[in-house]
Order: sequence, then C-alpha cells, then structure tokens
Amino acid sequence: MVQRELSASTRARAGKPVRTCIGCRQKGLAADLLRVVARERESGGFVLTPDPKRRLPGRGAWLHRDPRCLSEAGRRRAFGRALRVSGSLDSSELDQWVDGAEISTSVTRTP
Ligand SMILES: [Zn+2]
Repeated sequence: MVQRELSASTRARAGKPVRTCIGCRQKGLAADLLRVVARERESGGFVLTPDPKRRLPGRGAWLHRDPRCLSEAGRRRAFGRALRVSGSLDSSELDQWVDGAEISTSVTRTP
C-alpha cells in the first residue's frame, strides 16, 4: 500500500486550523503561515507586524513566509482589507521578516 503524499497547502489534517494566505489565496495549515497584525502608530498609519507566536490581539492576516506572497498581497492591498485598516501601512518590519526567513532556508548570502 502506497499512500500518496499531498502537500500541506492542498490538504489539511482534520482538527488542525487552516488559514488562507492573503498573497496567493492558497489554503494552508495555520502553523505554516505567518500571522500579521496591524499596529497603530502614534504618528499615524499602521505598522504591519509579524506575529509568529500568534499572541498579539486584534485581527490577523495570514501569509506564507514567501516574498512573492508578500509582494502579491501588497500589490492587491490585501492587508488593508484583511485587517480592516485604511491609510498608510508600513511593511518594513514584515519585509525584513520574510526576507530573513527566505535567506535562512534557501539562500546563503556572504556578508
Ligand atoms: Zn501564499
């Protein structure tokens, strides 16, 4: 008996929470996606804040740790819609987080 393996993005085990990536719109296990919340800045606007421990209050958006998903979400303004915020969104923290995750898994960069 051979069991075919399906990727986690197309099939989720029963009982595990599934979320939809706002970048590519694919579903995946919550554990595989990064939660992002919007933190209001005193100077106005919002800061997109990665929440890998999923402990920050408020609405969360879910995103693969993939720069392509991040740029796609940015291009479609998906963060504003998912997080119900309007105005400027500062994604620099999130950019760094996603870039760092990519570098550590697939690219070795010499300083
Ligand atoms: Zn994605």
